[in-house]
Amino acid sequence: MSQGTLFIVSAPSGAGKTSLVRELIESLDGIQVSVSHTTRAMRPGEVDGVNYHFVDVATFEGMVAKGDFFEHARVFDNYYGTSRSAVEALLAAGQDVILEIDWQGARQVREQMDNAVSVFILPPSREELERRLASRGTDDHQVISGRMREAVSEMSHYGEYDFVVINDDFTSAQDELRALVIAHRLETQRQRQHHTRLLDALLAS
Ligand code: 5GP
Repeated sequence: MSQGTLFIVSAPSGAGKTSLVRELIESLDGIQVSVSHTTRAMRPGEVDGVNYHFVDVATFEGMVAKGDFFEHARVFDNYYGTSRSAVEALLAAGQDVILEIDWQGARQVREQMDNAVSVFILPPSREELERRLASRGTDDHQVISGRMREAVSEMSHYGEYDFVVINDDFTSAQDELRALVIAHRLETQRQRQHHTRLLDALLAS
Protein backbone atom coordinates (compact mmCIF):
# COMPACT_ATOMS: atom_id res chain seq x y z
CA MET A 1 0.00 0.00 0.00
CA SER A 2 1.27 3.50 -0.77
CA GLN A 3 1.83 6.04 1.99
CA GLY A 4 -0.68 8.86 2.33
CA THR A 5 0.33 12.49 1.99
CA LEU A 6 0.79 14.73 4.98
CA PHE A 7 -0.88 18.14 4.58
CA ILE A 8 -0.06 20.99 6.94
CA VAL A 9 -2.77 23.66 7.19
CA SER A 10 -2.06 26.88 9.04
CA ALA A 11 -3.98 30.14 9.35
CA PRO A 12 -4.56 32.97 11.77
CA SER A 13 -7.58 32.67 14.00
CA GLY A 14 -10.54 34.09 12.02
CA ALA A 15 -9.46 32.83 8.58
CA GLY A 16 -11.98 29.97 8.60
CA LYS A 17 -9.45 27.12 8.72
CA THR A 18 -11.46 24.77 10.93
CA SER A 19 -14.64 25.03 8.81
CA LEU A 20 -12.69 24.57 5.57
CA VAL A 21 -10.88 21.51 6.90
CA ARG A 22 -14.11 20.02 8.27
CA GLU A 23 -15.78 20.41 4.89
CA LEU A 24 -12.74 18.93 3.13
CA ILE A 25 -12.75 15.71 5.12
CA GLU A 26 -16.51 15.37 4.74
CA SER A 27 -16.28 15.73 0.98
CA LEU A 28 -13.40 13.32 0.33
CA ASP A 29 -12.66 9.75 1.37
CA GLY A 30 -9.26 8.66 2.58
CA ILE A 31 -8.34 11.82 4.45
CA GLN A 32 -8.35 12.47 8.18
CA VAL A 33 -7.43 15.27 10.56
CA SER A 34 -4.89 14.45 13.22
CA VAL A 35 -6.22 15.14 16.73
CA SER A 36 -3.60 17.17 18.61
CA HIS A 37 -2.80 17.16 22.30
CA THR A 38 -3.17 20.46 24.13
CA THR A 39 -2.88 21.89 27.61
CA ARG A 40 -5.45 24.61 26.96
CA ALA A 41 -8.84 24.50 28.67
CA MET A 42 -11.72 22.88 26.81
CA ARG A 43 -14.11 25.40 25.23
CA PRO A 44 -17.88 24.96 25.39
CA GLY A 45 -18.99 22.40 22.83
CA GLU A 46 -15.55 20.78 22.48
CA VAL A 47 -15.17 17.05 23.08
CA ASP A 48 -12.07 15.37 24.49
CA GLY A 49 -10.56 13.03 21.89
CA VAL A 50 -12.47 14.73 19.06
CA ASN A 51 -11.33 18.36 18.95
CA TYR A 52 -8.18 17.72 20.98
CA HIS A 53 -6.78 15.32 23.51
CA PHE A 54 -6.92 17.64 26.53
CA VAL A 55 -4.04 16.95 28.93
CA ASP A 56 -2.36 18.72 31.85
CA VAL A 57 1.09 20.30 31.60
CA ALA A 58 2.79 17.41 33.44
CA THR A 59 1.34 14.85 31.02
CA PHE A 60 2.33 17.00 28.05
CA GLU A 61 5.89 17.44 29.35
CA GLY A 62 6.13 13.68 29.96
CA MET A 63 5.15 13.07 26.34
CA VAL A 64 7.76 15.58 25.14
CA ALA A 65 10.43 13.81 27.23
CA LYS A 66 9.47 10.41 25.75
CA GLY A 67 9.67 11.79 22.20
CA ASP A 68 5.97 11.09 21.62
CA PHE A 69 5.46 14.25 19.57
CA PHE A 70 6.14 14.59 15.88
CA GLU A 71 6.07 18.34 16.47
CA HIS A 72 5.05 20.49 19.41
CA ALA A 73 4.96 24.18 20.21
CA ARG A 74 3.86 26.75 22.68
CA VAL A 75 1.17 28.83 20.96
CA PHE A 76 0.28 31.93 22.96
CA ASP A 77 -0.15 30.56 26.50
CA ASN A 78 -0.70 26.88 25.83
CA TYR A 79 1.16 23.83 24.56
CA TYR A 80 0.07 21.90 21.48
CA GLY A 81 1.53 18.79 19.90
CA THR A 82 0.97 16.13 17.25
CA SER A 83 1.32 12.49 18.27
CA ARG A 84 4.00 10.80 16.17
CA SER A 85 2.55 7.28 16.38
CA ALA A 86 -1.00 8.33 15.42
CA VAL A 87 0.15 10.21 12.32
CA GLU A 88 2.59 7.50 11.21
CA ALA A 89 -0.08 4.79 11.54
CA LEU A 90 -2.57 6.76 9.40
CA LEU A 91 0.00 7.54 6.70
CA ALA A 92 1.18 3.92 6.63
CA ALA A 93 -2.44 2.81 6.15
CA GLY A 94 -2.55 4.98 2.99
CA GLN A 95 -4.65 7.77 4.53
CA ASP A 96 -3.93 11.40 3.73
CA VAL A 97 -3.52 13.29 6.99
CA ILE A 98 -4.13 16.95 7.78
CA LEU A 99 -2.26 18.69 10.57
CA GLU A 100 -3.98 21.91 11.67
CA ILE A 101 -0.97 23.45 13.31
CA ASP A 102 0.81 26.79 13.67
CA TRP A 103 3.91 28.01 11.77
CA GLN A 104 6.31 26.72 14.44
CA GLY A 105 4.94 23.18 14.13
CA ALA A 106 4.93 23.50 10.33
CA ARG A 107 8.68 24.23 10.40
CA GLN A 108 9.37 21.15 12.54
CA VAL A 109 7.34 18.92 10.22
CA ARG A 110 9.12 20.22 7.09
CA GLU A 111 12.48 19.45 8.70
CA GLN A 112 11.46 15.81 9.18
CA MET A 113 9.35 15.15 6.11
CA ASP A 114 10.36 16.86 2.89
CA ASN A 115 7.32 15.64 0.96
CA ALA A 116 4.79 17.18 3.36
CA VAL A 117 2.54 19.70 1.58
CA SER A 118 1.87 22.96 3.39
CA VAL A 119 -1.02 25.34 2.85
CA PHE A 120 -1.61 28.74 4.43
CA ILE A 121 -5.15 30.12 4.58
CA LEU A 122 -5.55 33.90 4.56
CA PRO A 123 -8.62 36.07 5.17
CA PRO A 124 -9.75 38.30 2.26
CA SER A 125 -8.89 41.62 3.94
CA ARG A 126 -7.69 43.17 7.16
CA GLU A 127 -11.15 44.68 7.76
CA GLU A 128 -12.86 41.32 7.33
CA LEU A 129 -10.39 39.65 9.68
CA GLU A 130 -11.01 42.35 12.30
CA ARG A 131 -14.75 41.89 11.87
CA ARG A 132 -14.46 38.11 12.32
CA LEU A 133 -12.24 38.45 15.39
CA ALA A 134 -14.57 41.06 16.90
CA SER A 135 -17.60 38.83 16.53
CA ARG A 136 -16.07 36.15 18.79
CA GLY A 137 -17.92 36.88 22.01
CA THR A 138 -16.33 40.10 23.21
CA ASP A 139 -16.28 43.75 22.16
CA ASP A 140 -13.36 44.59 24.45
CA HIS A 141 -11.09 46.70 22.26
CA GLN A 142 -7.91 45.44 23.95
CA VAL A 143 -8.88 41.79 23.54
CA ILE A 144 -9.63 42.34 19.85
CA SER A 145 -6.39 44.20 19.17
CA GLY A 146 -4.49 41.43 21.00
CA ARG A 147 -6.12 38.84 18.71
CA MET A 148 -5.29 41.01 15.72
CA ARG A 149 -1.60 41.17 16.72
CA GLU A 150 -1.50 37.37 17.09
CA ALA A 151 -3.16 36.98 13.69
CA VAL A 152 -0.67 39.31 11.99
CA SER A 153 2.23 37.48 13.62
CA GLU A 154 0.93 34.09 12.32
CA MET A 155 0.25 35.55 8.83
CA SER A 156 3.80 36.91 8.59
CA HIS A 157 4.91 33.28 7.97
CA TYR A 158 2.72 32.64 4.92
CA GLY A 159 5.80 32.73 2.62
CA GLU A 160 7.17 29.53 4.19
CA TYR A 161 4.23 27.52 2.79
CA ASP A 162 3.90 25.71 -0.56
CA PHE A 163 0.37 27.03 -1.24
CA VAL A 164 -1.80 29.95 -0.20
CA VAL A 165 -5.61 29.87 -0.22
CA ILE A 166 -7.56 33.10 0.32
CA ASN A 167 -10.84 32.48 2.05
CA ASP A 168 -12.94 35.21 0.45
CA ASP A 169 -15.72 33.09 -0.99
CA PHE A 170 -16.09 29.95 1.17
CA THR A 171 -17.13 27.69 -1.73
CA SER A 172 -14.17 28.75 -3.88
CA ALA A 173 -11.75 28.25 -0.99
CA GLN A 174 -13.23 24.76 -0.42
CA ASP A 175 -12.76 23.94 -4.10
CA GLU A 176 -9.17 25.15 -4.02
CA LEU A 177 -8.28 23.06 -0.97
CA ARG A 178 -9.96 19.97 -2.43
CA ALA A 179 -8.13 20.51 -5.73
CA LEU A 180 -4.81 20.54 -3.91
CA VAL A 181 -5.50 17.20 -2.22
CA ILE A 182 -6.77 15.60 -5.42
CA ALA A 183 -3.77 16.84 -7.42
CA HIS A 184 -1.41 15.19 -4.95
CA ARG A 185 -3.27 11.92 -5.30
CA LEU A 186 -2.49 12.02 -9.03
CA GLU A 187 1.27 12.24 -8.58
CA THR A 188 3.02 9.67 -10.76
CA GLN A 189 4.68 7.98 -7.80
CA ARG A 190 1.35 7.46 -6.06
CA GLN A 191 -0.52 6.45 -9.20
CA ARG A 192 2.20 3.91 -9.96
CA GLN A 193 1.70 2.28 -6.57
CA HIS A 194 -2.09 2.37 -6.75
CA HIS A 195 -2.39 1.07 -10.28
CA THR A 196 0.46 -1.42 -10.59
CA ARG A 197 -1.72 -4.03 -12.24
CA LEU A 198 -3.20 -1.61 -14.76
CA LEU A 199 0.23 -0.27 -15.67
CA ASP A 200 1.66 -3.76 -16.05
CA ALA A 201 -1.25 -4.73 -18.30
CA LEU A 202 -1.02 -1.56 -20.39
CA LEU A 203 2.68 -1.95 -20.94
CA ALA A 204 2.78 -5.71 -21.55
CA SER A 205 4.27 -6.55 -24.93
P1 5GP B 1 -6.94 26.83 19.27
O1 5GP B 1 -6.54 26.81 20.71
O2 5GP B 1 -7.67 28.09 18.90
O3 5GP B 1 -7.70 25.58 18.88
O4 5GP B 1 -5.60 26.81 18.41
C1 5GP B 1 -4.65 27.81 18.58
C2 5GP B 1 -3.50 27.61 17.61
O5 5GP B 1 -2.81 26.40 17.90
C3 5GP B 1 -3.91 27.50 16.13
O6 5GP B 1 -3.02 28.31 15.35
C4 5GP B 1 -3.70 26.04 15.81
O7 5GP B 1 -3.38 25.85 14.44
C5 5GP B 1 -2.53 25.72 16.69
N1 5GP B 1 -2.42 24.27 16.95
C6 5GP B 1 -3.43 23.39 17.19
N2 5GP B 1 -2.95 22.14 17.35
C7 5GP B 1 -1.61 22.23 17.18
C8 5GP B 1 -0.54 21.27 17.22
O8 5GP B 1 -0.71 20.08 17.43
N3 5GP B 1 0.71 21.76 17.02
C9 5GP B 1 0.97 23.09 16.78
N4 5GP B 1 2.25 23.44 16.57
N5 5GP B 1 0.00 24.01 16.74
C10 5GP B 1 -1.28 23.59 16.93
